[in-house]
Amino acid sequence: MAGTKTGDFIELITPFLRGKMRALELAHGMNSAEWRAIALQYVKNPLEAAISPQERRRHYESEVGLQFQGKPLVGVERLYRRTVLLEPTTVCAAHCRWCLRGQYPVKTLREEEIVNAARYFGEAAECAEVDEVLITGGDPLMAPKLLRIGFQALKEHAPNIRTIRIGSRVPFQDPDRINDALLSVLGSLPDHRIEIGVNVNHPIEFWPESIAAIRRLKAAGATLYNQHPLLKGVNDDLATLAALYALLREHGIEAHYLFHAIPMQGMRHHRTSVKKGAELLMRLSASGEFSGRAKPHYALMTDIGKIVLYEGTILARRASDNALLLRSGYRLEDRKRWNPSWRVPASVDVDEDGFMCVWYQDGEDEAWSELGLWGNLRLASNDLGPPASSIAG
Ligand code: SF4
Repeated sequence: MAGTKTGDFIELITPFLRGKMRALELAHGMNSAEWRAIALQYVKNPLEAAISPQERRRHYESEVGLQFQGKPLVGVERLYRRTVLLEPTTVCAAHCRWCLRGQYPVKTLREEEIVNAARYFGEAAECAEVDEVLITGGDPLMAPKLLRIGFQALKEHAPNIRTIRIGSRVPFQDPDRINDALLSVLGSLPDHRIEIGVNVNHPIEFWPESIAAIRRLKAAGATLYNQHPLLKGVNDDLATLAALYALLREHGIEAHYLFHAIPMQGMRHHRTSVKKGAELLMRLSASGEFSGRAKPHYALMTDIGKIVLYEGTILARRASDNALLLRSGYRLEDRKRWNPSWRVPASVDVDEDGFMCVWYQDGEDEAWSELGLWGNLRLASNDLGPPASSIAG
């Protein structure tokens, strides 16, 4: 599960991914760029223990910490006007080492908690403008029964919700889970728009089994999109990103956000500078390498929500802790209206027009070879399982 009971975000890799890693090792060698594209995402690294004073266990706080109809709301978050978040479970097929929620407490909701959340979305005055729910976690596609409960509760109690988004890496971590039982849940609300954010980071993850799973999801009526982090040594180069976005386009997956990797505890080795990401996006946008309809927005996940980087977004740099002050379009009064329990983070300044500006921890661009310890990257278990039958390039 994404999250921890003990402070240790354990290594969890599906047999499917282990088979792919074994095949990549045999085909290209351990520590090859191809093997590393997966290993850096999933293999627990000793560098995670190197925690800088600026890094935190949680990146941003957006829980709706209220009671509704006498019961506490759990698994509900909100930062934006039209969208609410519901997290039925923190369980995942595999643990992505860079996960935003790796240090969150582990939790799976009970049926009555999911129903209470749906009633809140449909009935609370502060949800009057909400028309979209993002079901995330954890990975909601790991829990089809909870997903069905959530779908039915939304249908019954929240008619204002017209779009249901689901964040999932299952198609690329354990694609056989995209089976008839799961597809029947996804097809159970034909009058709603169903969107699935798949989070693929590297072109090599387009395994044949994953492509087949994507086709099944699309045949069930889901719209697919991709949002993913920029990860040092995985996809922080133009050729890899251009190949990834060409494949997304080929397989009908919309490009959404390319995130700068967030400043979570023990994440320094995954993070580039913000500037490097901006330069890559500029080159992607002007490369002519792939369809102009397949380009992402470059976004920073800050303490107050996503901020897409445009010219003029960065207002200042603080050298003492390598932080950037970012201009946002979020007004404090709106945020308090949407989520009355929300507390203003210490990183926020409010400008004279009521817009929030927020300090964001930048990353660094030293190469993997300069970080050292690369040779110590090993699976917690040496058993990589049988070679996979095939790999996609
Ligand atoms: S599947 Fe999603 S929630 Fe789970 S560990 Fe990976 S990024 Fe985090």
